[in-house]
Amino acid sequence: MLSSILSRASCATCKFCCSFRRQSLWETPLFPLKVVEKLSLPNEYGVVGEFRAVVDPQKSCAGRLVLENNYRTADPEEEVSCTFLDPQKGCILKPEDKPFDCSIWPLRIMNKDGELVIALTPTCPSIGAVPSQALNELIKSGLGEKILEYAKEHPYIIKDYRAGFPIIYL
Ligand code: SF4
Ligand code: SF4
Repeated sequence: MLSSILSRASCATCKFCCSFRRQSLWETPLFPLKVVEKLSLPNEYGVVGEFRAVVDPQKSCAGRLVLENNYRTADPEEEVSCTFLDPQKGCILKPEDKPFDCSIWPLRIMNKDGELVIALTPTCPSIGAVPSQALNELIKSGLGEKILEYAKEHPYIIKDYRAGFPIIYL
């Protein structure tokens, strides 16, 4: 959804958002139950994922991809890749199976003092730590509303606000 402002060339060499240090495990992908059922069993991608159930306050369910068992060292900087990342091709999932959260990265929907806000994860090297005019315009021209609507239907994607994440107002 951010392809118009993300640099393909940067993404091809980066893949930062598809690998996780232990301190980033709160960001591992969240999948709707229907997709979890498909990806937990042998499937068209030839890769089976391990998921943990997530239930939000509105009792909607999802599955969080489990990567904790994949670390090989005690180094806190060690990164493990998402199960569905091909090192050459990138994400192997079709758009219909790709988590919404992944498709809006580096944007996040967060709960700040009881209010839903759209925030920018400041670590994407392509977009940068400060919302650009192009990003602000994209959000104001419909993407922001789309994210809010999805979050209302799938509240498990709403994360607690984290300091240092710039908020983008609609
Ligand atoms: S962190 Fe940013 S630049 Fe890197 S792969 Fe993800 S979207 Fe692309
Ligand atoms: S599901 Fe795809 S886009 Fe999301 S983290 Fe995994 S490889 Fe990356």
